[in-house]
Amino acid sequence: MSIKVLAPEVISKIAAGEVVERPASVVKELIENSLDAGATEIAVEAQGGGVELIKVSDNGVGIPTAEVELAFHRYATSKIGDLHDLEKISSLGFRGEALPSIAAVAEVEIFTQTPSEPVGTYIYLRKSEVVRRESRARPQGTTVTVHRLFRYFPARLKFLKSVSTENSHIAHLVSQYALAFPEVKFSLVLDKHPSLRTMGNGDLREVVGEIYGAELAQRMLKVEGTEGLAKVSGLISPPSLARSNRNYLSFFVNRRWVHSPLLTRATEEAYHGLLMDGQHPIAVINIFVPAQQLDVNIHPTKAQIKFYQEQIVFANVKKAIEKALAKTSTRLPELCGGQVAGSKTVPFSVSLRQWERPRMVMDNEPVFVVAQLPTMELPALRVLGQLANTYIIAEGPDGLYLVDQHAAHERILYDRISAQWAQKEIEVQGLLQPITIEFSPREEETLKASQELLAQFGFTIEPFGNRSYLIRAIPALMANANMIEIITMLLDDLASKDSLTPWEEKTIQSLACHGAIRAGQQLSHEEMRELIKQLEQTKQPRTCPHGRPTMIHLSSHQLEREFGRIS
Ligand code: ADP
Ligand code: MG
Repeated sequence: MSIKVLAPEVISKIAAGEVVERPASVVKELIENSLDAGATEIAVEAQGGGVELIKVSDNGVGIPTAEVELAFHRYATSKIGDLHDLEKISSLGFRGEALPSIAAVAEVEIFTQTPSEPVGTYIYLRKSEVVRRESRARPQGTTVTVHRLFRYFPARLKFLKSVSTENSHIAHLVSQYALAFPEVKFSLVLDKHPSLRTMGNGDLREVVGEIYGAELAQRMLKVEGTEGLAKVSGLISPPSLARSNRNYLSFFVNRRWVHSPLLTRATEEAYHGLLMDGQHPIAVINIFVPAQQLDVNIHPTKAQIKFYQEQIVFANVKKAIEKALAKTSTRLPELCGGQVAGSKTVPFSVSLRQWERPRMVMDNEPVFVVAQLPTMELPALRVLGQLANTYIIAEGPDGLYLVDQHAAHERILYDRISAQWAQKEIEVQGLLQPITIEFSPREEETLKASQELLAQFGFTIEPFGNRSYLIRAIPALMANANMIEIITMLLDDLASKDSLTPWEEKTIQSLACHGAIRAGQQLSHEEMRELIKQLEQTKQPRTCPHGRPTMIHLSSHQLEREFGRIS
């Protein structure tokens, strides 16, 4: 083929594909426009995962009648005028691409009025053409409604996930902007069901409470201060409130929501020694740097940024977070490879998950040779005691066994839940006192999508208004565990990106992992004996469901050799 300049509609579709990846991208661009317009109230509504309908209304400055069509021209923007402006962008938008891109992949209605004009403008665009235009009055502000997203873009439509997944992306996104702008009143309605509402009173803790629950918000630590280049503020979790993934890290640079590996690392390094492997903090962090220190124009959706002095910003952010942590916590002793003792007393802390592998401490030391662990039955073991509240020390017919209590219990639970599931006989336990639990908008969407599955696993969870739910029954095997934590973690695991593992399997793994006793938990002799007895009855007692060892065995022969009794 010879080289040709592409036709404008091809160019616009290519560009639109970059800006509008999925329904949540539309919501993002519309919210940013509302914020740039100085709105103090932003109402978001979506139906059918945003494919059927997305509607964003604001009370911002509106668009003058004469300029409404112009807003849908590519590279038409009121936000920057020249190259000089590009170097000191303070608005969220500046590329003039969002509205034309959206109009290229959907039908769009806009209804807007400025405070100085007696009447507003309504236009309807189909395939980027204005098909209706009217003068209509409304209160100051703008409402953009997007219908039938990707209808003429079947390739993109095919890539979208289920309605509930797209809804949960939207819920997450609106939550992020609500966190970034506590002074703006946000509301989100998904499929006619209210999902989020913030007060807009400027109190970040209040917004965190709306999204993650009041109890969590109460316990968050305040970050505040200027370090070198960066002014840093926000809320971070105490180490006892960790989560098992990075979904709870939010960074805003000069009020722009960004994905930044640099900032993630800076934050996690500040927690070094306070969290176990695989644990991540919850954090909402605002960073302000001088506009010249920042390039926001490196990505079509502006989700990535570049700091000119990365190392300095990194150090500044880390320092600010360390200071906040230092005020309330002492460094916890590092036990057994970073595992923290006593975590069971903290209701919100997560279990140690799969990461608390019993480290093969002897790996690099020639002194010991760790016996191979074939997957075979366990001999009868006699419990001698507990090491570091984490390992059970036991004696067998052939030497010493160190059993990782969490991994062992995880194996037991995994086998039992799997067996009950396979026979469709999940044992259920009703709760005399229902447990009240409040979900984040995103968790609530996952809950709705997985309700049937959860019911099959023995959970009875009833709506109790306003994202609160009552847990009335649970799988009997989970009876001793912290249900709020288990369900939160389960929803998190179900929403995880891993789409290869079927939901049933994810559920079994998640329940086993989060229901299992943790490292750091003191066990009575009786409890240890029971645990070992149950472990002996599993089919693969020597590995946890993730394939890591549940135990280390030192044979009598090895012991004798190490002590020089034999050569
Ligand atoms: P950009 O935000 O990069 O300028 P957009 O395509 O998103 O580009 O919007 C084009 C223009 O339309 C904006 O510069 C702004 O002037 C106007 N506009 C869009 N949405 C709104 C809104 N909600 N309120 C007021 N003006 C708006
Ligand atoms: Mg914009």
